[in-house]
Amino acid sequence: MENGIPPSLLQLLKKHRYHLVGKHSAVKRCKWLYESLIHDRTCYKQKFYGIKSHQCIQMTPSLFYCTQQCLFCWRAQSGDLQIKWDEMELPNWDSAEEIAQESLKAQAKILSGYKGNPKTNWKKFTEALTPRHVAISLAGEPTLYGSLEELIRVFHYKGFTTFLVSNGTAPSKLSALSEEPTQLYISVCAPNEELFRRVCRPQVPYAWEKLKETLSFLPSFRCPTVIRMTMVKGHNMKNADGYAKLVEKANPTYIEAKAYMHVGFSGLRLDYESMPSHREVYDFAARFAERTGYMIIDESVESRVVLLSKRKKTISFETP
Ligand code: SF4
Ligand code: SF4
Repeated sequence: MENGIPPSLLQLLKKHRYHLVGKHSAVKRCKWLYESLIHDRTCYKQKFYGIKSHQCIQMTPSLFYCTQQCLFCWRAQSGDLQIKWDEMELPNWDSAEEIAQESLKAQAKILSGYKGNPKTNWKKFTEALTPRHVAISLAGEPTLYGSLEELIRVFHYKGFTTFLVSNGTAPSKLSALSEEPTQLYISVCAPNEELFRRVCRPQVPYAWEKLKETLSFLPSFRCPTVIRMTMVKGHNMKNADGYAKLVEKANPTYIEAKAYMHVGFSGLRLDYESMPSHREVYDFAARFAERTGYMIIDESVESRVVLLSKRKKTISFETP
């Protein structure tokens, strides 16, 4: 066992095509990297924000560690498949430079698989060899990683844009970030504490209060901010008023209402029917919009996501 992580878990993750990086990080090929290179279809974040799917690295510095065990999460959680470890027993962290370097190598390895594929778009493949964007979002809670701001800084120094996704339960870490990501996501997946406990299953005390504290200083970020609401049918798609009240104070640049997808290890915890249709997500987003100053400004039917903002147009990070 390395760092208290059961070898059976490492094997399972490798089988699920996680490229383990150092002791606690990982890179995984996003389905949209494949879709972009092979079928010229791109992810909704390219559509909304201009970041290119074929030049994106999907990674995490905190693969095994999280302050929550959300029902809808696609990561392997302690207890899934009878494999157990302490998700809050943090390791000796690898350095940010090491993680960045090794993540780039892992991405290069992933891309090498496309060389022999006759369907690969060669222009895009050549561009993909120089990735430009990092989604720090794959699995786990990234604010647990001890050198997160350094990791963001290293990627920025290398010319990358970064999207950071956090569950907001570490307000002190987020408020102290001296290097902001290019865009910051905070997940808000319940309209009140009772549902938060049932759906997000916090593993640390006062998680709900901590999330609310994070929301209270979200307006202080200079970068665009996003509240991500993952909608799980029959679980948290109710009480649009509750969501509206929470989000009002945070005043994010955007809100993404997105359907839960029945993928990864979430299938062990939720039924296929928990996945709402795009229409259901859209209707919920419309109810939410009626209660706030936010407007629906874009959507992606295939990813079942609706984008809301007070802006008419998004801020684009498209690179030449
Ligand atoms: S931004 Fe997200 S969805 Fe788009 S390619 Fe990167 S990891 Fe995939
Ligand atoms: S906060 Fe994120 S990584 Fe942690 S359990 Fe929830 S969805 Fe998964």
